[in-house]
Amino acid sequence: MIPALMPNYNRADLAFERGEGAWVWTTDGRRFLDFGSGIATSSIGHGHPHLVKAIAEQAARVMHVSNLYRVPQAEELAARHVAHSFADSVFFCNSGAEANEGMVKAVRKYHAENGHPERYRMICFEGAFHGRTLGMIAATGNAKYLEGFGPPVDGFDHVPFGDMNAVRAAIGPQTGGIMIEPVQGEGGVRPADLRFLRELRTACDEFGLLLALDEVQTGMGRSGKLWAHQWAGIEPDVMSSAKGIGGGFPLGAVLAKEHVAKHLKPGTHGTTYGGNPLACAAGNAVLDVVLADGFLDQVDRVARKLWFGLEAMAHRHPTVIEGVRGAGLLLGIKLVPEVTNGEAQNAAVAEGLLTVAAGMNVLRVAPPLIIGDAEVDAALEMLDRTMRRLTPSTAKAAAK
Ligand SMILES: *Cc1c(COP(=O)(O)O)cnc(C)c1O
Repeated sequence: MIPALMPNYNRADLAFERGEGAWVWTTDGRRFLDFGSGIATSSIGHGHPHLVKAIAEQAARVMHVSNLYRVPQAEELAARHVAHSFADSVFFCNSGAEANEGMVKAVRKYHAENGHPERYRMICFEGAFHGRTLGMIAATGNAKYLEGFGPPVDGFDHVPFGDMNAVRAAIGPQTGGIMIEPVQGEGGVRPADLRFLRELRTACDEFGLLLALDEVQTGMGRSGKLWAHQWAGIEPDVMSSAKGIGGGFPLGAVLAKEHVAKHLKPGTHGTTYGGNPLACAAGNAVLDVVLADGFLDQVDRVARKLWFGLEAMAHRHPTVIEGVRGAGLLLGIKLVPEVTNGEAQNAAVAEGLLTVAAGMNVLRVAPPLIIGDAEVDAALEMLDRTMRRLTPSTAKAAAK
């Protein structure tokens, strides 16, 4: 018989009842070091007192009123995001896919309002992940996610990641923008070259296109800067955010320059929950922590420590690990073809460490941003023991 909870996930048989910092405890009393952060989402760890207090206090006062009214918590959060980013204006929603939908709608509206409704197409990249709505599975373009869901939504053209010649060749009279993750997360923790990002900005300026960045996974400090595109020294026209922005509370956002945002007039776009007092109280609390003096410097410092530790580990286990990649605290361990990332993920669980599989046979390491040296050392030890469990020959034996 079908389970009451729809069977659309492949869940590990672990249930957590409590968390503190980077650690979580299962209902049967086992402790795990969480280097997956619920897919790069529990950005300031579990049970952070400042976030817990903000949510509890706001919940007791008023949770939801709808966007029929002013929401001071949303006004404050938007103003703070504007002060700390390229953006002039912010729209709040509830998830990454919804933020990307808003972002693509904003790009289309911009061109329509400027007399070019035909420029509705986005150039996207192979290996991308933009979410699971009908629109965003088309933007993602991966056949695995599209299959069985009818004709893909029109308007997304895919080119190889990092290939500037292919981008330029794909730009046509109907192209309105370029949509890219600064580091492909689900696709395999693949960072875009900073030079490639700059060249995309240049091409957008040259052809009157909008640069639309999907920073759902890379943003909110995960790269060691508030937004990953800052490493390239460029600014997008519009950007999506979600995951870490609410620290585990569902919150998404579209951040935009004025020339894009000004066309989203009343009635053009909306959401019932988006930016409600409770979600924005969470967002403000997360921002308090991430913007505190020295916080991002500390993220950058522990990220480098983790990176060098993983590199050293890769050298110790050349029969299991092909290489290490990523940015900041979004890192990937690319495994040899003989060892699957699923096996590696299970082996890590056996050592007490939570990680997340990603595409291209990569094991993703994305700890909460609040970790210190002790957590990095503990994770590196667990991962080293994980890799020792995973000699290619034992992996094959296990598969038999
Ligand atoms: C997770 C993710 C999404 C989708 O976010 P949801 O909240 O699951 O809808 C979109 N883009 C990127 C880059 C992501 O990592």
